[in-house]
Amino acid sequence: MRETIVRSLERIPTGLYIDGAWVRPAQPRSFVVSDPATGETLAQVADADLDDAKAAVDAASAALPGWRSMPVRQRAEILRTVHALMLDRLEDLARIITLENGKPLADSRAEVRYAAEFFRWYSEEACRNLGALSHAPSGGYRIMVQHEPIGVVALVTPWNFPSAMGARKIAPALAAGCTAVVKPASLTPLSMLALAPILAEAGVPKGVVNIVPTSRSGALVDHWLHDPRVRLVSFTGSTEVGRTLLKSAADQILKTPMELGGNAPFLVLNDADVPAAVEGAMIAKMRNMGEACTAANRFYVEASIYDSFVSAFVERMRAQKVGHGLDESNHVGSLIDAATRDKVEELVQDAVARGARVLCGGERVPGPGHFYLPTVLGDVSLDSRVLKEEIFGPVAPIVRVASEDEMVALANDTEYGLAAYLYTRDLSKGLRLAERLEFGMVALNRGLLSDPAAPFGGVKQSGLGREGSSEGMHEYMETKYIAVAW
Ligand code: NAD
Repeated sequence: MRETIVRSLERIPTGLYIDGAWVRPAQPRSFVVSDPATGETLAQVADADLDDAKAAVDAASAALPGWRSMPVRQRAEILRTVHALMLDRLEDLARIITLENGKPLADSRAEVRYAAEFFRWYSEEACRNLGALSHAPSGGYRIMVQHEPIGVVALVTPWNFPSAMGARKIAPALAAGCTAVVKPASLTPLSMLALAPILAEAGVPKGVVNIVPTSRSGALVDHWLHDPRVRLVSFTGSTEVGRTLLKSAADQILKTPMELGGNAPFLVLNDADVPAAVEGAMIAKMRNMGEACTAANRFYVEASIYDSFVSAFVERMRAQKVGHGLDESNHVGSLIDAATRDKVEELVQDAVARGARVLCGGERVPGPGHFYLPTVLGDVSLDSRVLKEEIFGPVAPIVRVASEDEMVALANDTEYGLAAYLYTRDLSKGLRLAERLEFGMVALNRGLLSDPAAPFGGVKQSGLGREGSSEGMHEYMETKYIAVAW
């Protein structure tokens, strides 16, 4: 395994990617990126400061006129090539994700495919930037509407999907004709840096995408938000940081697509297909070890089906093998850091103190890394923190409920509104309930929602705007209306 790691790491660039070149920071500083499963250092990455942040916007700004005026078909072909190259290098890219994030290799491969698919989807969507033409109702002129790239965009991404959350922003931004400055999460910058040579090889001109890792995220992003050449900030991360960025973005009235935190309910109705619901629960809970904004965070199960669902689910959770993500026999890797693991532990202890029963797991794994056993908590009391806060770990708290109405009321009782899951054999009942759920996305008899062709995003404090689908590209465009005297 060591040899594979060394080979994967040798090829990862560790500088700042600005104007199509690898540059060292203005102040020669670096920060450490480590393997969360072992604590070993993986790389020393260049640590950008404000001069580097400015140089990145200089490059993006200089590249903008050429990129936005390139024939759309040509831009689309470049995006399509990025998709192909990512799939060619799938194994390398997946190993990098596992090394810096801790997730199992199977999850990392799925993430690379998902990330690559954004480039393919937007290579197709780029050519469908449709406008509109209509008669003014008062007569005498025409209303002409077209969509133009917004300009230089700042993209800020989290550590939990270090490749896909970048791709979900870069692909539509480029398809729209924008140029970008990108700040990957400080814990996991390597996956974004590994994308840079692929973009260059595919033909993305210099300066169109600039990738600037830093250990001083707050100051660097704030600098971008006050540079008048930057017109949009797209952020994926916690609601808390999103709120801070929204306040800063107000100074220059920036456009602000935000993909923030979640607290997804997973509803199992009494007529659900139990094996299908258990399969869906495993995906919705355990993809990424629960470190996903869409992760099922709380389970509400109708009383008559509670015992059969819970016993089958516990059996599957118990069978999950925990260990280093590069070992293909493991299903559950290390959580990202000690703070995340400690919070998971705290939430479980709080639930148990309030009367929850530990049906499996319920403890950390000793030794290096930040492993936590797959855990199911039964009969969780409604005042438990685990039902209210993002768990971001492999813990499934289950509540027994008496009716559908109670289920919907409990599901909606949160400041978040990203994703919800619902299992029932009765499709019309499922659709009726889906309409009553105050969430941006509802998975009906499915454990997985994410799809580049679908509008991904939340309501309430889970965010603003949508990523993926044609809506995702329009976030990066301004609508222009031209009144034409015909
Ligand atoms: P985070 O908010 O701590 O960090 C996200 C990014 O912001 C990172 O690049 C980080 O370095 C940067 N950052 C941190 N403080 C900053 C500041 N003051 N100013 C500017 N940038 C700053 O989030 P995280 O811990 O990396 O990711 C986990 C969170 O992301 C969870 O809440 C999860 O639900 C959310 N998330 C949401 C989605 C979605 O699509 N809605 C997807 C993935 C993750």
